[in-house]
Amino acid sequence: MAVRWALFHPAVFLRHIMYLCIYLDDSDSAGNKDEDYLVLGGISVFERQVYWLSKQLDELAALIWHEDPQAVEFHASEIYRGKTSPWDTVKGRDERRKVIKDVLAVLANDKHGTTAFACAVHKSSFPNRDPMEVAFEQLCNRFDLQLRRMHNQGDTQRGLIVLDESSYETTLQQLARDFRTIGSEWGLTKNIADVPLFVDSKASRCVQLADHVAYSVFRRFNAKDTQYLDLILPKFDQDQGKIHGLVHYQTYDGNCMCPACMSRKMA
Ligand SMILES: [Zn+2]
Repeated sequence: MAVRWALFHPAVFLRHIMYLCIYLDDSDSAGNKDEDYLVLGGISVFERQVYWLSKQLDELAALIWHEDPQAVEFHASEIYRGKTSPWDTVKGRDERRKVIKDVLAVLANDKHGTTAFACAVHKSSFPNRDPMEVAFEQLCNRFDLQLRRMHNQGDTQRGLIVLDESSYETTLQQLARDFRTIGSEWGLTKNIADVPLFVDSKASRCVQLADHVAYSVFRRFNAKDTQYLDLILPKFDQDQGKIHGLVHYQTYDGNCMCPACMSRKMA
């Protein structure tokens, strides 16, 4: 009897629930009126894969600062600017760009189902809406779609949203706090846990990877610089040739030829 009890003990049962985590981060542009776009980006990663992605980024950090790799935080816009430590020691702009690309390569080379998500909101297309709310709603829906698709294919996973705790300057934190209510308003299924998790981006390599996804998409739409997004484009969540994971949210160009709009038109 004792053995049978153990089989049904909740702790035993819980161990068999697998989580698919989506780490989200923005492109630093929420409050910047000079920029046309706000981008929220992320990676959807199986919990057992988090360790391996982090390990690869730790190894990359050790190449940059051998004495203290944990002090190296990969934050794409800071790497690009090269003003803060340790990026101020990497003098060449091309060298710093290569660091951003090396971080993206960890995602590009993943063979274990890690996928990318991003929503680029053209701010003046929706003057009466908070672009962060638009982006967060879009990404939660796309993540939910991925979970439902996996469930229909016999692979049921619980979804967990993980956010950078320093996102207090944006409406993202408020949205996350109200997630239980807004999640149902947005028609999300119970696949996603109703409480997002906050982590320190300094300590989370996956949040740093999400930052680089957001940065790549931001550069593509805000500056027409495709060199970063090109590296990771095949990683965006897609099904039968349609890209679900990348959203270009705008009303000004019905003939947009970007990969997100083209994929939607062809479908
Ligand atoms: Zn487009």
